[in-house]
Amino acid sequence: MTPLLQVRDLTRSFGGVRAVDNVSFELARGELLALIGPNGAGKSTCFNMINGQLRPDSGEVRLDGENIVGRKPRDVWRLGVGRTFQIAATFHSMTVIENVQMALISHAKRTFHAWTAAAAHFRDEARDLLAQVGMDAHADRPSSILAYGDVKRVELAVALANKPKLLLMDEPTAGMAPRERNDLMALTKRLVTINDIGVLFTEHSMDVVFAFADRMIVLARGKLIAQGSGEAVRDDPKVREVYFGSGRTVARRVSA
Ligand code: ADP
Ligand code: MG
Repeated sequence: MTPLLQVRDLTRSFGGVRAVDNVSFELARGELLALIGPNGAGKSTCFNMINGQLRPDSGEVRLDGENIVGRKPRDVWRLGVGRTFQIAATFHSMTVIENVQMALISHAKRTFHAWTAAAAHFRDEARDLLAQVGMDAHADRPSSILAYGDVKRVELAVALANKPKLLLMDEPTAGMAPRERNDLMALTKRLVTINDIGVLFTEHSMDVVFAFADRMIVLARGKLIAQGSGEAVRDDPKVREVYFGSGRTVARRVSA
C-alpha cells in the first residue's frame, strides 16, 4: 500500500542557510512519528513545506501518492492534512462543544458544498469527538475557563472534526508540565490508533518521544541524520553526538 506521506529530497534554503537539506522519509497510516532535532534543525520548515505554507526549493511531498507541492495551504488542508494548535480567535468566546460543532460544520461545507442544517445537527458528533479526547463532561463550559491541558484536548477534537488523514503537531506540548505532556501524547497515540490517521510531531522532551513515538527521524542542520525505533536512534553515533555529545542538547548556533 502507498504510504500516507512520502517526503522526497525536500530542500529549502533561506539566504545561505540550507534550513532543510535533501530530506526524505515516509509515514504510514496509524503511525505516530516524531521529528526531533536541536533548535534550528529545520523541523518547522519541514512542517511548513508539508502543510503548503512554504514552497520547497526542490523535492516532493506526496499524500496518498499525490504530489502536493505547490498547493495552497487551504487545498492541502482540504486534502486531509490537519494541524493542531492553531486555535481560532473566537475559541474563547464559545463553549467547548460549540468549538467542535463549528469545526464539524466547516468540514461539512467543505465536503458537501452545502450548509447542512443548524449546529444542532452536529451536537452528537461533537459530543463523540469530545468523548474521544476525554472532554465530554466539559462540553457546555465556556472554553475561556479551561485549564491549559484541557484546551489542548479540545484543540485535538477540533482538528479531528476536519477528518484529517495526517495531523501535524509542531511542539504540541510546549509550555506543559511533564505529567500533562505524557497525558497529551498518550491521548494522541490512542487517537492515531482509533482513527487510523498518521501523526507527525515535534517534541523536545526525549522521555516523551521515547515513550510514545512509534518511530522517529532526527534532523540536524537541515539534514536527516537518523531514523528508526527509539533504541536504534538513541544508539546512533551521529545522534549521540548531536544530542548527548556533551551530556546536554547541543543547540545549533543560528547564523542567518
Ligand atoms: P526548528 O523548527 O527545528 O527549530 P526551523 O525550521 O525553524 O528549525 O529553522 C531552520 C533554519 O532555518 C534556522 O537556521 C532558521 O533560522 C532558518 N529559518 C527558518 N525560517 C526562516 C525564515 N522564514 N527566514 C529566514 N530563515 C529562516
Ligand atoms: Mg520549530
